[in-house]
Amino acid sequence: MHQTAKRILVTGGAGFLGSHLCKALLDQGHEVLCVDNFFTGRRANLHHLLNNPRFEVMRHDVTFPLYVEVDEIYNLACPASPFHYQHDPVQTTKTAVHGAINMLGLAKRVGARILQASTSEVYGDPQVHPQTEDYVGYVNPIGPRSCYDEGKRCAETLFFDYYRQHKLPIKVARIFNTYGPNMHPDDGRVVSNFIMQALAGEPITIYGDGGQTRSFCYVSDLIDGLVRLMGSPKEVNGPINLGNPVELSIHELAETVIRMTGSDSELVFQPLPQDDPIQRQPDITRARDLLGWQPSVPLEQGLEATIAYFRRIHAAARSAADR
Ligand code: NAD
Ligand code: UDP
Ligand code: UDP
Repeated sequence: MHQTAKRILVTGGAGFLGSHLCKALLDQGHEVLCVDNFFTGRRANLHHLLNNPRFEVMRHDVTFPLYVEVDEIYNLACPASPFHYQHDPVQTTKTAVHGAINMLGLAKRVGARILQASTSEVYGDPQVHPQTEDYVGYVNPIGPRSCYDEGKRCAETLFFDYYRQHKLPIKVARIFNTYGPNMHPDDGRVVSNFIMQALAGEPITIYGDGGQTRSFCYVSDLIDGLVRLMGSPKEVNGPINLGNPVELSIHELAETVIRMTGSDSELVFQPLPQDDPIQRQPDITRARDLLGWQPSVPLEQGLEATIAYFRRIHAAARSAADR
């Protein structure tokens, strides 16, 4: 094994981001323990890793205590799409809060460095644009998105309290909308919805008038940011925004997906969900200065790889239906 190889726990490792992170860490020569309850994660995301002797998968729900011996922890366990996190909102808050407490307790016991996958949702429907890390947010505590937003905010509080109270080495990343292969096709997020709809020739569902904006980061850039943050000097705790600052409207995204897939899908407009943020764009000055990080994959290049992935899924589903 490589001299600096570590034993690393990735919670939520069977999910979209977690599966890419597990692969990146294995590629660096580390031992990886993937812990997941398979709520939104899929075994298919891990198929290509299962033969690696340095990789281990454990079915476990992070709302329950976990006793393992590791050097580092990436805490990603939590459903990320509004469709999934609103399915069982109480479990979402438990996952964010009890999950954070258990992983922090574990980190404290074994002296591990621990990174939290936080989110741009801590800014809520932001009144400051673009969002810098010192903006404290504009979040509804009692709405349908609150289980996720407030759960993630409380997890950040816990991380900083374990840092101040127990001197735990923590890292907090605020991740902005990320897309790429291994996204769940029925995930309900905008990139997966639009591409799957375009490939099936079904109407593209725009919520609201499509004027709301997001900034989309390709998964390989995001994973590079997480790994750099974990490896950064001890005094770099964050929070640090990780995302691609190129902002576009949801309407523009729909047009781009239609053009790139060559689809003849029409656009249909549906009501904008409650508390849906109107605009979102990361200020990544901190990540640039402290991690030397910035995204390098332009939207169309990332969408090309993502469309190719969804084409394979779409074709497999069609041939299964024909059988
Ligand atoms: P995902 O839904 O694909 O992955 C989440 C994983 O966590 C799944 O494998 C799921 O089964 C697992 N999980 C859920 N609850 C669990 C529990 N109680 N115990 C154990 N495992 C559990 O989502 P993702 O996009 O890969 O997001 C990963 C992390 O990054 C999440 O914490 C999310 O909040 C954060 N994040 C993602 C984005 C994004 O755009 N993808 C943006 C901001 C933050
Ligand atoms: N915990 C865990 N694994 C460990 C150590 C602790 O899951 O290896 C959990 C434990 O169940 C506890 C939580 O982490 O509820 C917080 O632990 P901590 O030591 O900070 O607090 P305490 O045990 O004093 O409540
Ligand atoms: N959205 C949309 N059509 C869809 C799915 C989502 O117009 O089929 C919109 C959604 O209302 C939001 C944006 O796209 O304004 C991003 O939604 P997503 O669920 O991907 O992420 P989040 O809202 O958490 O940023």
